Amino acid sequence: MVFPVHAESTRGFASDTTRVASQLRDSGLHDGFAYEFVRELTTRFGARPAGSENANAAISWGADVLRSAGLRNVTIERFPLQGWRAENTTVEVVLPQRQLLVATMLGGSFMSEPVEADMAYFPSYTDFLMASPGAVAGKIVVVGQELQRTRSGAAYSAMVSARSLGPSEARKRGAKAFVMRSLSTSPGRFASSGATAWAGPDTVPSFSISPPDTLQLERLSRMGPVRLRVGSSVKVTEASSGNLVAEVTGTHEPDRFVVIAAHADSWEQGTGAIDDGFGLAVVTAAVRLIAQLPVPPRRSIRVIWFGAEEVSQPAPVGDFPAARAYASQHRDEVQRFLIAGESDWGGGRIESLSLPANRVSSDIAAQIGPVLRPLGISLERSAVKTGGPDISILQNAGVPAFRFNQDATNLFDVHHNPDDVFERVDADALKQNVAAWAAWVWMLANAS
Ligand SMILES: [Zn+2]
Repeated sequence: MVFPVHAESTRGFASDTTRVASQLRDSGLHDGFAYEFVRELTTRFGARPAGSENANAAISWGADVLRSAGLRNVTIERFPLQGWRAENTTVEVVLPQRQLLVATMLGGSFMSEPVEADMAYFPSYTDFLMASPGAVAGKIVVVGQELQRTRSGAAYSAMVSARSLGPSEARKRGAKAFVMRSLSTSPGRFASSGATAWAGPDTVPSFSISPPDTLQLERLSRMGPVRLRVGSSVKVTEASSGNLVAEVTGTHEPDRFVVIAAHADSWEQGTGAIDDGFGLAVVTAAVRLIAQLPVPPRRSIRVIWFGAEEVSQPAPVGDFPAARAYASQHRDEVQRFLIAGESDWGGGRIESLSLPANRVSSDIAAQIGPVLRPLGISLERSAVKTGGPDISILQNAGVPAFRFNQDATNLFDVHHNPDDVFERVDADALKQNVAAWAAWVWMLANAS
């Protein structure tokens, strides 16, 4: 939805701010930095599971990238992490005939010995939750629900609890293992990774299998009893991660910050080009364009590469451990964070901008509207709900958030699966994102 904005409402100082914002937008549309950035990140470091050597090396490399982009106060703020790794994962049909399926273990899941049991197949997650206890106890549960393709990606948000909480629901009902259809819109034979709520060794081992393998089980279940066997070796290590933090220092109010973020870790199967190499490239390229301007912004801009977004941790940390570490390390400073946003919703074009409730009808909204319109970006009439996963932790601490809403139609074709690679990056969409972020962040750091 677009609301009317009037060019005559921008004049004087404000018009200078919008003029520079428009220049940044145009520079972003012609800037190849972000695309080269994703190429180098994914080629040099490959997959970057949180706390792994690869992830930590990518974060160290990032510090050099940010320094040479002209940012100041570049630091890596370390925090401890339980590193989790699953190897030799197998999900196989034992009866009626042995068949190996394409599967991956879900993050934070545990197992020591392989498990074999009869399959209990449920077409949907609700069917599983409503099943009589006798239909689940002692069985390997398979949930066959398909993720629908949606432009906003809302179908994923609505279904993600099946993955995070399904394993503990299966345990409560006495199941021996939990297997779900990948939260994927790809028809390809890929299994999607993803975190479960960390329950330690008492949880049931949990897996996702590819969409075609799920349909295979569904057909088999109609032919008669099916017996499955699942196995994996899980290693948990004391590891550490880090948040990479850097700044463009403001001229007038250097201790007030516009915060922009993305995450450096990825799942283990692809190279995290879309999730979240794309987001890192967007915020890094945008702040680089601003750092290279002859005149710094009035307020400071802080960029954060969160080190561990994908994984959940033992209580009391739980989900989003990097953002939680950051919020607690910067507890005394968060009231000086004016607004925060992150890029972590795939590699599609931005379609609209959502603002905090008290900014939906404001001067800054009126000023940014015409700057973003040539990029095909409108302003939402309704207020932002969540700024994104990591930023939600800062929102809980009272920091207002904005969100650039991207077209997520194709995100779940590659999300958390082996096909999340550099070749899936849309170079034009990447430039459009950089253009929008550079212009908007400049506006936030300068508006009166
Ligand atoms: Zn992500």
